[in-house]
Amino acid sequence: MCGIIGFTGCLQAAPILLNGLQKLEYRGYDSAGIACMSKGGITVSKAVGRIDNLRGITNNGSTINSTMGIGHTRWATHGKPSDVNSHPHVSMNGKFAVVHNGIIENFGRLKEILISKGFKFQSETDTEVVAHMLEYYYRDGNILHAIARTMNAVEGSYALGILCDDDPDHLYCAKKDSPLIIGLND
Ligand code: GLU
Repeated sequence: MCGIIGFTGCLQAAPILLNGLQKLEYRGYDSAGIACMSKGGITVSKAVGRIDNLRGITNNGSTINSTMGIGHTRWATHGKPSDVNSHPHVSMNGKFAVVHNGIIENFGRLKEILISKGFKFQSETDTEVVAHMLEYYYRDGNILHAIARTMNAVEGSYALGILCDDDPDHLYCAKKDSPLIIGLND
């Protein structure tokens, strides 16, 4: 079990993500991370341990200038708690960042296929296959197609928050058998 959060709006995202993660920390707390869409691309910050460690390295989020991002507090199912295994996970070309609650049951097979196509893995997690598959299926430049194809390929449970560097105005999510709530205001 873990907690994921995403935010897009007019306010600075990182402090909102950190406060949200703190509220979700009861769901898991071996490591945490956030990815924010900034002018220069996606900025990822990760830290092993409690959310306070992530607060520390980002000065409570004030070092990140961004109004959209995703965050994760992890309770590891695949791969030990470590900086490299903590979420968000990023695709090989850096275009996609992903946070995931759940388990990708067929990640081993998908990993083999992706490795045969030249993808290189950094982590021991099941989640990293999602980031690379998004990149693989994004060849036609259609983000929704890439997400739909990836969701068709994965088996298991997931709630996912997804950022794509090419689309700084949209935050994407997908779910199956893991909880996800979308809140909207003006
Ligand atoms: N299966 C993923 C991992 O081990 C997500 C675990 C979680 O839900 O915290 O990284």
